[in-house]
Amino acid sequence: MQFHLNGFAPGDPEIADPTMRHPAPGASGALPDQVDVLIIGCGPAGLTLAAQLSAFPDIKTCIIDQKPGPLLRGQADGIACRTMEMFEAFGFSERVLKEACWINETTFWTPDEKLPANIVRSGRVQDTEDGLSEFPHVVLNQARVHDFYLDVMRKSPAALEPHYARRLLGLDIAPSVARDDAHPHRVTARIERLDPTHGNQIETIKARYVVGCDGARSTVRSSIGRTLVGDSANHAWGVMDVLAVTDFPDIRFKSLIRSATGGSMIIIPREGGYLFRLYIEMDKLDVGERVANRNITPDHLVAAAQRIFNPYRFDVKEISWWSVYEIGQRLCDKFDDVQELDTRSEPCVFIAGDACHTHSPKAGQGMNVSMQDGFNLGWKLASVLRKTCAPALLHSYSAERQAIAKELIDFDREWAQVLSSASKSTANGSTPKNDQAETQDYFVKHGRYTAGTAVLYRPSPITGESTYQHLAAGLTIGMRFHSAPVIRVTDAKPLHLGHTIKADGRWRLFAFAGSQDPASPKSGIHSLCEFLTEAEQSPIRKYTSADDDIDSVIDVRAIFQQSHDELAINVMPPLLLPKKGRFGLVDYEKIFCSDTRSDIFTLRNIDRKHGCVVIVRPDQYVAHVLPLDGYKSLAAFFDGFLIQR
Ligand code: FAD
Repeated sequence: MQFHLNGFAPGDPEIADPTMRHPAPGASGALPDQVDVLIIGCGPAGLTLAAQLSAFPDIKTCIIDQKPGPLLRGQADGIACRTMEMFEAFGFSERVLKEACWINETTFWTPDEKLPANIVRSGRVQDTEDGLSEFPHVVLNQARVHDFYLDVMRKSPAALEPHYARRLLGLDIAPSVARDDAHPHRVTARIERLDPTHGNQIETIKARYVVGCDGARSTVRSSIGRTLVGDSANHAWGVMDVLAVTDFPDIRFKSLIRSATGGSMIIIPREGGYLFRLYIEMDKLDVGERVANRNITPDHLVAAAQRIFNPYRFDVKEISWWSVYEIGQRLCDKFDDVQELDTRSEPCVFIAGDACHTHSPKAGQGMNVSMQDGFNLGWKLASVLRKTCAPALLHSYSAERQAIAKELIDFDREWAQVLSSASKSTANGSTPKNDQAETQDYFVKHGRYTAGTAVLYRPSPITGESTYQHLAAGLTIGMRFHSAPVIRVTDAKPLHLGHTIKADGRWRLFAFAGSQDPASPKSGIHSLCEFLTEAEQSPIRKYTSADDDIDSVIDVRAIFQQSHDELAINVMPPLLLPKKGRFGLVDYEKIFCSDTRSDIFTLRNIDRKHGCVVIVRPDQYVAHVLPLDGYKSLAAFFDGFLIQR
């Protein structure tokens, strides 16, 4: 898709009339008096959480932002492969794939050894290693990511719209003993209306849970007495999205440029084929200094870019967005309101995204990690509110995400060091060869990390031990479910198994068949299905209420090794052809077989003789790998966190 040729126009580029492209203005009217979840902030963290909660009409959610309306341009733009996998679960990956710019290769530029005032290309690498994900690394305006979430929310069962022009002033949190079934709303939020017609009117809203997705200067964070700890000085970054004419040959590649004297710059090609972004690293600020004090203007940024681009021409036609912002590497010690040593209380206030971790944009992680925070917390809140899991589950949010944010910040710091060591110049102004190589090597080596696919959750009640990991060595317990192609048996449709996981709060149980005859009632799959349908200890029997569809809590799917025409569906266990809905119609989408062109058993190293069960969490992470007949362990695993309704 090509767009923005004659100037940047925010919104959906498929709508011809730019005046019709703007997203809806949000909810009108007063805030509700009482909600289950109050989300502060319509950034990537808040919108991911809101989109997840909006899947449940029985959960009352309210999301507010102090801005007058939806974001139209600017802020982050990098979308990691792992984030694309999550977008698939929310149902808009295809729209992003179509509209975004794909990052296929990254190039490296350094001072010319003979003429250091000029830059020359010193390397080129494939951006994402083969097979890392079925999705590419792409780049798209953060505002469009917001639009897609807003669209999901609007069309969802809860039909959720944000309330804009509302600023959170503070929270009053009742002590945890005050929570009982009669008084579950422990938090009272004071909110100021900012729109001219309601000038400074104060509203109060009571909530069971409040989530602060309110950015680096979070009011929610202050309300629970937490602070961001880390660098005392910030790094200032100049960033601008431009339409410009240049003879720099790699302008449509992501490029890392290090000049001899002008500093360093990152080029990010952007959606629409013409637009690109420049990140220009500025000076480190003094302790406590704000970047606003430096009076940096777009002209300064253009001049800095022109110096770095030398000998190439850089003629700016339009700056559609620019900013100079300061970022330090900082982290909160905990992401909820419960003190470390207090094991009896349950959290009722959480913080997510930049509110609890900030980092440089060099690794392009800010938006991605914030969205993963929202995804991690969303299904957990929904499960507790819908009474499928006990509130103790909510402790796992801070435990899991704080550890990931810490790793990210360590990585970010190291990457920043590698980039600045590559900036050390030799006597003639060129970069030493080993430093250039180090930068490139580090970039390649940490590709999985920047793609978001290296996240590993430690064993906990929702993430099992690795006792049976060898049965599916390529589906690591605690890591995201690495999808692979399969064929749906009932209609021979090729698809990705991971794409059957939707952001609907359900658990998945993928049963990979062993080498036995698939038609035999004694086969591992038949016996497992019999256990799940008949046994008293079956988690499906125990935790699915009689009024709900059989797959409403745990969605069982089977994958066979034979081709689809060798498998007879009329001898499949009834659990794999469940009757659902008010008419009892058959769901034909539970049975798969390997795609011989790209065999999932080989790709994910699944034991062909014994098969196995792979349990996947609602946020797409592998929770456990168990033998097909490991019924006791299977039951015990779900008993660890699900509760009978
Ligand atoms: P945010 O996106 O910051 O969203 C927080 C939201 O909370 C905002 O909409 C804010 O209006 C709202 N809010 C705050 N306080 C209140 C309150 N009291 N009441 C109601 N609402 C409130 N990252 C990059 O990778 N590349 C970039 O180029 C880049 N540029 C950036 C430029 C700017 C100006 C900023 C602010 C951030 C930039 N970032 C960039 C960082 C990236 O956008 C963030 O990491 C990401 O947006 C974090 O998402 P979030 O949802 O946690 O918070």
